[in-house]
Amino acid sequence: MVRRLPVYFLLDCSESMAGEPLLAVENGVRETLAHLKKDPHSLETVAVGVIAFAAKAKTLVPLTELYAVRTPSLSLRPGTALGAALDLLRESISQEVVKSTKEVKGDYKPIVMILTDGRPTDDWRGPLARLKALKPSAGSIYGFGCGPEVDFSTLSQVCDVTFHLADLNSESLSKLFQFVTRSVGASVLAPETPISLEKRSLEEQGLTMIDKAAPPQSLEESSRIYVHLTCYNTRKLMLHRYKKDLNSSNYLFDQAFPLPDDFLADGSAGAPSVAGSKLVSPYGTPCPHCENIGWLRCGQCGALTCFDVAHRKPDFFCLSCGNKGEVDYNGIIDEVNGSAG
Ligand SMILES: [Zn+2]
Ligand SMILES: [Zn+2]
Repeated sequence: MVRRLPVYFLLDCSESMAGEPLLAVENGVRETLAHLKKDPHSLETVAVGVIAFAAKAKTLVPLTELYAVRTPSLSLRPGTALGAALDLLRESISQEVVKSTKEVKGDYKPIVMILTDGRPTDDWRGPLARLKALKPSAGSIYGFGCGPEVDFSTLSQVCDVTFHLADLNSESLSKLFQFVTRSVGASVLAPETPISLEKRSLEEQGLTMIDKAAPPQSLEESSRIYVHLTCYNTRKLMLHRYKKDLNSSNYLFDQAFPLPDDFLADGSAGAPSVAGSKLVSPYGTPCPHCENIGWLRCGQCGALTCFDVAHRKPDFFCLSCGNKGEVDYNGIIDEVNGSAG
């Protein structure tokens, strides 16, 4: 039997990955698989497992021989359950990786690649302790923190080696996956030795290695917040991203993303961490689901929805709480306070 080199990907699919980053990660995995499949040594030894995490952790690809792996499609969910992902990784490794016996050499130690852009929303210390206690060991864990919001003090405790990728866009993520491809390719030739990391090659890929003893301080509060809302016309879900305004305590509208219909299938998204009155208007931004370019806030429950400015429909019915009221149009975000409809 051939000894396999298991490679596990743990991919963050939280709402902060909305839009380009999530597609770029999916493409990156696809290209990594395609490149490795062209290499006969990798084809012979590599087996791949993919775990996605957000509200929950999910196995997208159980450990599978490289030739048979298909690129999984990633789907956005609220939350960043890194702890749940570590627990699922431990279960997967103990069930899927072949252990050595006196007679037979089992699989090589796994390589684990964790890709995240934020901070965990669940307990990760317990799951990490259980993972570290695994015998034989869970192998080497490499962490890739992407973008400006990564909690490196956590990530560098979880991972043996942690990298920072400054930009979270398709170009930088494509380079990151080139680095992953080369690292796995090199490990195939020397599976017992840790991935060799050349400083110059890291810099070329836009990666910086994080000093485990002194990880960069993460921001005390996030500079971005995410608000979920429902389209008034289609009742479909969407996500609004707001960025903190450096000159005030307000958050400025940044971008709107359509959300999949099953976005809340794994759990609720929770309320935004700041008051609705601190969110500065997305006014003029088209709804990703319909032609509306106006936005209304319910004065009773705070829910936002898109609004038909052109026709200035005077009646408002809140999709979240049922509040009915008349729209007092003022061109920004109108707050509709309850009145007996
Ligand atoms: Zn709409
Ligand atoms: Zn309401």
